[in-house]
Amino acid sequence: MLVVGGGFAGGYVARELGSRGATIVSKENFMLYTPLLPEAASGTLEPRHCVVPLREMCPHAELILGAVTELDLEAHTATVETDEGTQTVAWRELVLALGAVPRTLPVPGLSEHALSFKSLADAIYLRNHVLHQLEAADAALDEEERARRLAFVFVGAGYAGVEALAELSDLTEDALRRYPRLRSTPRRWVLVDAAPRILPEIPPPLGDYAATELRKRGIEIHVDTTLESVSAGEAVLGNGTRIATNTTVWTAGVAPNPVLREWPLPLDEKGRVEVDELLRVRGHEHVWSLGDCALVPNTRSDRPDPPTCQHALRQARRLAKNLTGPPEPYGYRMLGQVATLGRHKGIAEVLGLRLRGFVGWWVTRSYHLYQLPLLQRKVRVVVDWTVALFFRRDIAELGQLGHPEQLG
Ligand SMILES: Cc1cc2nc3c(=O)[nH]c(=O)nc-3n(C[C@H](O)[C@H](O)[C@H](O)COP(=O)(O)OP(=O)(O)OC[C@H]3O[C@@H](n4cnc5c(N)ncnc54)[C@H](O)[C@@H]3O)c2cc1C
Repeated sequence: MLVVGGGFAGGYVARELGSRGATIVSKENFMLYTPLLPEAASGTLEPRHCVVPLREMCPHAELILGAVTELDLEAHTATVETDEGTQTVAWRELVLALGAVPRTLPVPGLSEHALSFKSLADAIYLRNHVLHQLEAADAALDEEERARRLAFVFVGAGYAGVEALAELSDLTEDALRRYPRLRSTPRRWVLVDAAPRILPEIPPPLGDYAATELRKRGIEIHVDTTLESVSAGEAVLGNGTRIATNTTVWTAGVAPNPVLREWPLPLDEKGRVEVDELLRVRGHEHVWSLGDCALVPNTRSDRPDPPTCQHALRQARRLAKNLTGPPEPYGYRMLGQVATLGRHKGIAEVLGLRLRGFVGWWVTRSYHLYQLPLLQRKVRVVVDWTVALFFRRDIAELGQLGHPEQLG
């Protein structure tokens, strides 16, 4: 069994296969638990604690660290590029779980000047970038430059954008206590989305609560608005608003992994692999696909699954069973949705019950703790959260990590 991709979908398939074993090919040796990424960016959580090492999560699986670059669906082989060279791996059953990449649009300056928020590296980079803006603002000689450094624009008001903005604005508020010279400088946090509401995935009353809560903190929300252009020092919105800023974060959705287009697979117009209700790739008896890279029909819904970890996890459980026993159609009815808004506030919809404020926050955290694999990971996260209750966030900027100085 060859599983390509060690993210939510691939990692869980291999874990569910248990002692039946699997070979995972993945670019990282860990599974990233993305719902905790905003907290890792803001310093409530140690970044390492929102990933789960695949060798521990799937103790019976073999891991090849690398990227699949070619697939031969006739010969049942995959070409894998590793740091040590190229190798060919044979498979009897193939699982494609290659995930997604940030969905970009032809906005002038986007690829050069906007930051993404998808991977652990993105989260760590963004945290250091934000802290660096505070240092640069403190050193700046004029008020205009200070204000520019303290303006932050997030484009895309889904979970990732809203949670990341809420958490990072909390981080800067905490940090600014140590920057007396910046006390009078106005801070600007801006959330932009082309849709008419923020968090369109959740019931309107909870989305409205989130918008009101963010506005109370002074966060500007521009809905029905697009990003027109970005440059090194400015973001321009479709409604004419010009924001002097050095920080534009692009969190406007995902697109299936583009490598899939290079392989002879049936894809829909968005580039997702088309699978049947058993999660088998159409026209390929021994190839399966799931997660963000697949168009997965759901027998308990009239729409294909959205790209979320809760769906990837349920698909993975079904697929592991289909790979080892009589296959059955996949069906999952969402039990709820959760999101944090920083400052001990959150929103949750669980079994039709709508929760907000502290209770919403508590339920969100409890849900993630329950879902996170491995007891030792859960304990590390609880310890981080407990420490965060008593101490303010760490404001050390560690941008030089990973860039050691040369000897001599
Ligand atoms: C910031 C953020 C917050 C989110 N919050 C939530 C949330 O709160 N709730 C929720 O339900 N969902 C959330 N999501 C969505 C969720 O993360 C995805 O739906 C989920 O990760 C999909 O799992 P996946 O395995 O399909 O893809 P991924 O988890 O992205 O995994 C893809 C894997 O494929 C590997 N890979 C890619 N190319 C190759 C290659 N050529 N060869 C080998 N391996 C390869 C990658 O290294 C990666 O390990 C969030 C996403 C983000 C970015």
